[in-house]
Amino acid sequence: MIKSMEKIISLAKRRGFIFPSSEIYGGLSSCYDYGPLGVELKNNIKRAWWKKIVQENEKVVGLDASILMNPKVWEASGHLKGFVDPLVECKKCHKRFRQDDLKENKCPDCGGELTEKKNFNLLFKTFMGPTEDQSSEIYLRPETAQGIFVNFKNVVQSSRMKIPFGIAQIGKSFRNEITPGNFIFRTREFEQMELEFFTYPKEAEKWYQYWKEQRFNWYLDLGIKKENLRLREHKSNELAHYAKGCSDIEYSFPFSTKSGEKEDKIWSELEGIAYRGDFDLIQHQTFSHEELAILDENGEKFIPHVIEPSAGVERPLLAFLIDAYEEVEGGRSITTESNKSEEVVLRLHKDLAPIKVAILPLSKKEPLIELARSIETDLRKYWMVQYDEISSIGRRYRRQDEIGTLYCLTVDFESLDDKKITIRDRDTMKQERISIMEIVPYLKEKLD
Ligand code: ATP
Repeated sequence: MIKSMEKIISLAKRRGFIFPSSEIYGGLSSCYDYGPLGVELKNNIKRAWWKKIVQENEKVVGLDASILMNPKVWEASGHLKGFVDPLVECKKCHKRFRQDDLKENKCPDCGGELTEKKNFNLLFKTFMGPTEDQSSEIYLRPETAQGIFVNFKNVVQSSRMKIPFGIAQIGKSFRNEITPGNFIFRTREFEQMELEFFTYPKEAEKWYQYWKEQRFNWYLDLGIKKENLRLREHKSNELAHYAKGCSDIEYSFPFSTKSGEKEDKIWSELEGIAYRGDFDLIQHQTFSHEELAILDENGEKFIPHVIEPSAGVERPLLAFLIDAYEEVEGGRSITTESNKSEEVVLRLHKDLAPIKVAILPLSKKEPLIELARSIETDLRKYWMVQYDEISSIGRRYRRQDEIGTLYCLTVDFESLDDKKITIRDRDTMKQERISIMEIVPYLKEKLD
């Protein structure tokens, strides 16, 4: 089965995962809004990351720094000078490209001649306060990491964390990308989940290996198929001058190739894990004149080294959607009412599925509805639930399969007498009849 981007984008729109931003005004290039199911999926991804990185790890604490920061931060981090991409423009059709994306020195669209390359800074600039002059210039953060470095001292002093330890943050970042695209893969506004893990220099290599393994396994544990995931170590010419090592976790996306329209499997980055040495803390110490060194076991001052696993939220979200998408030829046995040729099942991991349970009464008659609604109210205390009484039961099952709902619960006339319902498992299609009293413990065992 070919999983095309077109099918994923269509499902995402149709079922309320992802909409183009400000669509009624014609949209805004590369900006997207997350609908009722998309926001659940996004929250579930962030929750799964936070649980693994912060909640379950005694060595990591969280942070939520502001998006707007003192502009000196970006001078120290090197973003003001160095956060640039090489921009070229076609003299004929005026399309713009990243020069390092091009195979040949001509416009890939019309073959026209290109301008000289210009370094284009990706920082979004705005003004703080009522005056619009240079002194009020300020930037939207292009990464969350710097908010962590500038709070290093605050966290050390307030939380009693001892090296090795990490600070984690999830939040929005902004980059004025030259060529956004591939749906939500490259956008100008996105979310990041970043961890800065501070270690003794002599232990940094060990932690670098540790975090590569941990992060790779996180994707596998959440259901990404092994054959679609790889860890790629950067070559020395790809590394930033201060970096001592960097690996990307890549997913094999069904993107169009750069040269043509053909869709192919293209390995693309979901997350980078970098061994950044002491570069960031030294830079901030130099620019802020605040000492950021701490004491080691022997009472000597040192600047910790940093391992940084840095993931987006949207790229993993797209990978989870693509990986979970399955078309079942000829339909699934229980839904044989219509003569459809294929059905879609979104086999999202139980922790990621936006809706855990759907309640489907078999009739719209009053006593049944009342019972179904009371079950719904009960389950809503624990999980995201959908109630659906519209259209045939086959269609309702298919709709739930398409959005990845884990359990469908049908309430029928017998339920009124025997106080039991039928529960169907999305993946095994197994149906069980269980007592209404048993629903919560049954689902708790399966879902928690
Ligand atoms: P790329 O080489 O694809 O531009 P990058 O190496 O610049 O990515 P990082 O700076 O390492 O990306 O950012 C860490 C993570 O943040 C990426 O792995 C990705 O998941 C996410 N990310 C970065 N830029 C974007 C973007 N423009 N849109 C969506 N997510 C992004």
